[in-house]
Amino acid sequence: MAENKRDYYEVLGVDKNADEAALKKAYRVLAKKYHPDMNPGDAEAEKKFKEASEAYAVLSDPEKRRQYDQFGHAAFEQGGPGAGGFGGFGGFDFGGDMGDIFGDIFGDLFGGGRRRGGSQGPMQGANLRTSVRVTFEEAIFGCEKEIELNLKDECTKCHGTGAKPGTSPETCPKCGGKGQVVFTQQSLFGTVQNVQTCPDCHGTGKIIRDKCPDCGGTGYTSSRKKIKVTVPAGIDNGQSIRIREKGEPGTNGGPRGDLLVEVVVGRHPIFQRQDMNIYSTVPMTYAQAALGGDIRISTVDGDILYTVKPGTQTDTKVRFKGKGVPSLRNKNVRGDHYVTLVIEVPTKLNEAAKQALREFDQATGNSLGQAAEKKPSEKGKKKGFMDKLKETFED
Ligand SMILES: [Zn+2]
Ligand SMILES: [Zn+2]
Repeated sequence: MAENKRDYYEVLGVDKNADEAALKKAYRVLAKKYHPDMNPGDAEAEKKFKEASEAYAVLSDPEKRRQYDQFGHAAFEQGGPGAGGFGGFGGFDFGGDMGDIFGDIFGDLFGGGRRRGGSQGPMQGANLRTSVRVTFEEAIFGCEKEIELNLKDECTKCHGTGAKPGTSPETCPKCGGKGQVVFTQQSLFGTVQNVQTCPDCHGTGKIIRDKCPDCGGTGYTSSRKKIKVTVPAGIDNGQSIRIREKGEPGTNGGPRGDLLVEVVVGRHPIFQRQDMNIYSTVPMTYAQAALGGDIRISTVDGDILYTVKPGTQTDTKVRFKGKGVPSLRNKNVRGDHYVTLVIEVPTKLNEAAKQALREFDQATGNSLGQAAEKKPSEKGKKKGFMDKLKETFED
């Protein structure tokens, strides 16, 4: 998908700081020029049209544009940060969605009104997009969510015809019900045939004289619906769940479009996630690190009692196998949880603790008194790399 893909800004011919209006303007010009209806049978024009549409779909969406600016085309490939790896939704499809994303633009282009199948046979409805918020843990173990959204249904009064009961839509006299009209133009290069969406019926092939009072002639009514979303264990932020046939209704007996639910995963105060692994940092005291001891470590499966070995260094990494994120494909396969053990230096010590530390220091080589006593020539032995480096530059 990524091979030789042109830069989206270049495709639209705008600069990187172009605002919403500039993007829209640029896209409209291209869409009008290359729209398949304007260029029937022209594969090159269709390619250009799709390229421009894809560029506009990404750049007109602030979140997608941010990802694109950061990652380029890789943002929308499988496994990329913006890819919805779940349920086969991994990029752009130019099926039913187009009407929704570009509705306002095409509305303008073709004189208002969405193009419908008209006499062209059953057509699947457009896909709808929405999002759902889940917590960090809900994303890991999966959950059921209920979302509410406005869904269109075929108007029960007119059964989707849009015509007042007792009347019926008439065949559009301009296009004879085809929904398209052919213009023959004489040009410098000879006779040119242009196919355009019929301006009278906007492509439906029908004209409604008496509009249905319930739906105002649209053939659809909209109502608030509750939909159950099964969020699978292991889903990651930005991935989408496809719910079949919960999108816009189809036309001429076609199936409904799909509903694409983007999952927005909340942050966790302790855990970070990367793909299937979880990361956290756990403090241990100096005494625990030096002498060994038990500490409590939180995992998504609950607390674990972990025995720190005597002499554990700060920044020691411990892996808890299988305590990470389940695979979307098989929830019994899980990533790991990596814990970084860090020695916490006490900031408040009482006098007894201070005294004990001084005595401890005396017993372990008197680091507190040493530096002052040592002669400069003896210092060289224990110099670290950075000290030596510093010296080199200071000389
Ligand atoms: Zn109606
Ligand atoms: Zn017509």
